[in-house]
Amino acid sequence: MKGKKELRLPQALTVRQLAERMGVDPIPVIKALMRHGIMAGLNNVIDYEKAALVASQFGFAPSPEEEPEKLALKPQPKVKPKEGKVPRPPVIVVMGHVDHGKTTLLDYIRKTNVAETEPGAITQHIGAYQVEYQGKKITFIDTPGHEAFTALRARGAEVTDIAILVVAADEGVMPQTREAISHARAANIPIIVAINKMDKPNADPEKVKRQLAEEGLVVEEWGGDTVCVEISAKTGQGIPELLEYILLVAELQDLKADPSKPAVGTIIEARLDRTRGPVATVLVQDGTLRVGDVFVAGTTWGKVKALFDDRGQRVKEAPPSMPVEVLGAETVPEPGDVLRVVADEREAHKILEQRRREAKAPSGISLEEIAAQIHEGREKVLNVILKTDVQGSIHPIKTALERLSEDDVRLHIVHAAPGNITVNDVMLAIASRSIIIGFNTYPTPDAKKLANAEKVDIRCFQVIYHLIEDIERVLKGLKEPVFEDQILGHAEVRAIFDIGRGKRVAGVYVRDGKAVRDSIARIIRNGQVIYEAPVESMKHFKEHVQEMPAGTECGVGVQGFSDFEEGDIIEFYRRVRKR
Ligand code: GDP
Repeated sequence: MKGKKELRLPQALTVRQLAERMGVDPIPVIKALMRHGIMAGLNNVIDYEKAALVASQFGFAPSPEEEPEKLALKPQPKVKPKEGKVPRPPVIVVMGHVDHGKTTLLDYIRKTNVAETEPGAITQHIGAYQVEYQGKKITFIDTPGHEAFTALRARGAEVTDIAILVVAADEGVMPQTREAISHARAANIPIIVAINKMDKPNADPEKVKRQLAEEGLVVEEWGGDTVCVEISAKTGQGIPELLEYILLVAELQDLKADPSKPAVGTIIEARLDRTRGPVATVLVQDGTLRVGDVFVAGTTWGKVKALFDDRGQRVKEAPPSMPVEVLGAETVPEPGDVLRVVADEREAHKILEQRRREAKAPSGISLEEIAAQIHEGREKVLNVILKTDVQGSIHPIKTALERLSEDDVRLHIVHAAPGNITVNDVMLAIASRSIIIGFNTYPTPDAKKLANAEKVDIRCFQVIYHLIEDIERVLKGLKEPVFEDQILGHAEVRAIFDIGRGKRVAGVYVRDGKAVRDSIARIIRNGQVIYEAPVESMKHFKEHVQEMPAGTECGVGVQGFSDFEEGDIIEFYRRVRKR
């Protein structure tokens, strides 16, 4: 024990007290406990053995105090919601690939953790529910998937605090898993990974962790900081641990609200009920919503006639993070609308009148608009969603785009994936103020419609070079330069060589000008341009060459093209800025 500082510890103390006694930050203490499989938040009490274990890792020589410190075991005084900020329950969204078990997980948690209430209460689907675990409340948005989540965010609503990413242990990371990660990151909320279906015989959690690491989510046991739990939504295995993690992550977020204020919340669902009139589910985010309150929500207003909780029970009030059904709106508000309690009917009308005057401006961001803003120094980051034809195109384009970042203007790839440009991508673009770039891929009709309505900029390219040039121009905040093609030379295809993996190159004879390695090739067949892409390789015998003059022969490879035919003409050209 030489060189170690002595530390007297009581029989039990909170994590915070342990950190204070050691004079260290509590976060590393919590992490050290986690490494020993102990989930404890700042105010959780741990016993001497556990405290001593951690203390010795921090370089102390712990020994027990004679008298157990009784104080530490006293229950925490209940916080009375008065003035000032008080902790509020976290709001959780569950995301992940289809069929990975999101709904099953939400159902399981709800079934096993609802607090006791009066008999006769039955679970109601109102868009969110609250459970109690270890005396603490947790709110779940019960429309799983990132579609609903992003739809809310696209309308400016920020309702969730933590994302649970469900990944099936037998299937691993899938396209929607990646989408979900991008959505959570764009929302800047922490991700807890739940590796589900651990009961299945072919569950392979290690593979899932490897795949997650490729997405930048490195789990703690591998030295990263991604919290990851192995669960089965079917048997319930690991779910208590998941709930503990949620509470822990929430505690670190230090979520607070002020229940004494008039309520502010977000509409998460709304419909017209034939007997009850407009019914809206509100997630209260700050303040307390009460029966009798007058409110505005989007373009409607109302007076709270009645409130119902997620069990269909009448309640008088809803504190922060509680979802409630509200009766009393004049017309049906829209999901994503912010509900705000106001002083009286007169104020409500005044606000609505003003809103009507400032008719909704489209939320989108055109590239030109951003260019102007960059030019004026107002925008510092260009957010980009990149969709490509194949997975293999993502990396080179991403790298090339990221290289464009200037000192004062950064380019940030919010999401990159192969596939069509979908409504989801447009939603994400609205939510994250991004432009969408398509490489050899196009928007679906619905996505196009939405993008037009919301003025989201979608740009599609077939040639990487054009894509990069276009974005570079925006980043520089410059006016559109005029480009022209500079024809360098023509060559005729005389032979075709298979170089393996289905790739073919052309043996050509340079007819005029020169063949140039750093140029774009236009492949012309019977007078028609059939393909256009940068030259990928150029060889003279076994040597890589940069240029070959007229009258010589060489081998030419073109990006993404293999279907050469004898007699094809390759036109080599460059795009140059017109002066
Ligand atoms: P969602 O599309 O992500 O909401 O997935 P669901 O919750 O609908 O689940 C898809 C399927 O997987 C259903 O047949 C579930 O019964 C099944 N499932 C979900 N969780 C588990 C699990 O932990 N173990 C097993 N064996 N099956 C599960």
